Amino acid sequence: MSTPDDLDLAAQQANALQQLDAAETSDAIEDFYRAWLAPSGATTKLKRGIGRLAPADRAAFGKNVNALHTLLEERFQQRREHVKTRELAARILAEARDVTLPARPRPTGGYHPVTLVMREVLDVFQKMGFSVFESPHVELDEFNFGLLNMPENHPARDMQDTFYLDTERLLRTHTSAGQIRAMRAMHPNPVRVVLPGLCYRNENITTRSEIQFHQVEGLLVGRSVRMSDLKGVLLQYARLLFGSDQRVRLRGSYFPFTEPSVEVDILCTLCGGAGCRVCKHTGWLELLGAGMVHPVVLANGGYDPREWRGFAFGMGIERTVLQRYDIHDIRYLFGNDLRLLEQFR
Ligand SMILES: [Zn+2]
Repeated sequence: MSTPDDLDLAAQQANALQQLDAAETSDAIEDFYRAWLAPSGATTKLKRGIGRLAPADRAAFGKNVNALHTLLEERFQQRREHVKTRELAARILAEARDVTLPARPRPTGGYHPVTLVMREVLDVFQKMGFSVFESPHVELDEFNFGLLNMPENHPARDMQDTFYLDTERLLRTHTSAGQIRAMRAMHPNPVRVVLPGLCYRNENITTRSEIQFHQVEGLLVGRSVRMSDLKGVLLQYARLLFGSDQRVRLRGSYFPFTEPSVEVDILCTLCGGAGCRVCKHTGWLELLGAGMVHPVVLANGGYDPREWRGFAFGMGIERTVLQRYDIHDIRYLFGNDLRLLEQFR
């Protein structure tokens, strides 16, 4: 840049316009403004140089400097608009989006297969008039065992390895623990509830057993409840869940809190009874355990067994999941492996 000491205005003007034309960015434009037009800029200094001229020339020079200032101001405004417009266009182009491109897939969550089956099971029982009753995971020994007709040293306690928290409290080993709580909450009215949730057993983890698993317990207590009512409810359940022609069979069994007790099987849903790997070539799949509520349990719940009768059933949800989806290892259900979970959307 030539110095303002140079009072050759034509040269100064050419110099300034050349700089302005070379300014390609907003920053360069502002630099130009500070160099030429600001109060401390070159045109102000030119005006100050007026004293070095012969007095006769001063008026014309002053006029010419003002004209130069006006010209530069005008060109500066034009150039600034031009650069701004160009910068805006470049930015719009850079930020442009092709709206015709297909959208990128966004990962979506899904329900765990245990949750899916649990909801389905509860839904079926709710359709049959059962309501959901929640009971605690940390349970008293007497609710989990004693009041269910399993006093201390009862051999049935050995059927379940238990996580004890202290001498009185444990992690419930089955949802049956909620039976007494449900009866005491409903007394003296009839009871028709399902009790869903996690249960815990101190077992070796294998392909077939985990230390935690979900059960759904059912409990119905009324004045004229019979074994045939239990059978009807379970048949209805199996048909709502597996299809209207689903067959069910009952086998005699033993549980301390029901008398009589049965194991309930359904005709294998995979082979239709012909025999396959899932049903171990028997044609039948174990569905649940059930029975008429033991008179001692009814009494512990507050219901006089001479007037009231009831039935109860309990099923493992994981077992249903493994059967339905032909999964061979229960540990997959608790492994949180996305390759498995993503198959259930
Ligand atoms: Zn089968």
